[in-house]
Amino acid sequence: MRVLVTGVTGYIGSHAAVELLGAGHDVIGVDDFSASTIETRQAIERAAGRKIEFHELDLRDGKGVECLLGHAELDAILHFAGRKFVGESVANPIRYYTRNVTASVNLFAAAERNAINNVVFSSSCTVYGNPAKLPVTEQSQIAPVSPYGRTKAVVEGLLQDLCHAQPKMRALALRYFNPIGAHPSGLIGEIPWGTPNNLVPYVMEVATGERAVLSVFGDDYNTPDGTCVRDYVHVVDIAKAHVLALEAVRRNTFGNRFENRDGFGALNLGTGHGSSVLEVLDACRTATQRPIAHQVVARRPGDAAVIYADPTRAASELGWRAELDLITMCTDHWNFAQNIAEQQADVS
Ligand code: UDP
Repeated sequence: MRVLVTGVTGYIGSHAAVELLGAGHDVIGVDDFSASTIETRQAIERAAGRKIEFHELDLRDGKGVECLLGHAELDAILHFAGRKFVGESVANPIRYYTRNVTASVNLFAAAERNAINNVVFSSSCTVYGNPAKLPVTEQSQIAPVSPYGRTKAVVEGLLQDLCHAQPKMRALALRYFNPIGAHPSGLIGEIPWGTPNNLVPYVMEVATGERAVLSVFGDDYNTPDGTCVRDYVHVVDIAKAHVLALEAVRRNTFGNRFENRDGFGALNLGTGHGSSVLEVLDACRTATQRPIAHQVVARRPGDAAVIYADPTRAASELGWRAELDLITMCTDHWNFAQNIAEQQADVS
């Protein structure tokens, strides 16, 4: 298939591109480099051993999107582009509604006009907000608690409505839990921009010496060690799920065992297993062989105590299961973090 990958030089998009190329698909990549760098394009090509076609484009530019989709002869779209930080979305909701929603409206309007009917959308477990029951299934209530989460839910709704209106359109939303890790080649991974918001990127900067100490946000939760529990999943496992999802969308095989009246479905991508902040920290200490100082501070507002996925629907619909364990996630994340630290040291 000729597959448009939006946000191709971003964290998940770059890994998905490598897996798509490995599975024999052609990648037509799009990015505006608002949160990534041009070097990632070459890194994708080195990791996959194949070239991609690339267009620098901001999806808020509706005419540019229409022009690309009108000429690129695409079979499918993998839509990753967008902002992803809860705190930033609270401070700047307009940025999230334009970059995540307006951009998606432009993209899928052009897809509809050009009869590009196979879509996989990068969604998030954040659409569930603070789930009442665990593990989180796809039937759990959609109740996001941040502008970021609401933009993901809005775009899922848009795709569902579009699939209803256009019988040939089919879309799968993949709801990621906590993706971490990097490609085992060390060539691609999550490039930090400023102070990391997420746990593992922050831990890695303590390990490289860039930051002094990890703040653990609360150890008085009702969990075995008092720290929050999340479902961490290797980014390469997440990337592989996209190739399977794309093939399921094209064959229209998903949804035979659950609601598929409109050609839209959503799947959780997690391991089904929760790890606490202190367990992740221990795994990172093992992977990095560095001490990694930490201090317990106050809870972070808005954090749920425990969230982990029920990933059985992804297994039954796609044959997908997360395969890589926490130590592998931390080891691969560390390899990439060291490469980035070395590159930054060379530049300065
Ligand atoms: N966390 C922490 N210190 C940090 C960043 C995160 O203790 O510097 C905790 C956070 O409270 C949460 C877990 O690590 O319980 C995962 O946080 P992250 O932001 O990576 O993911 P999310 O909150 O989206 O699940």
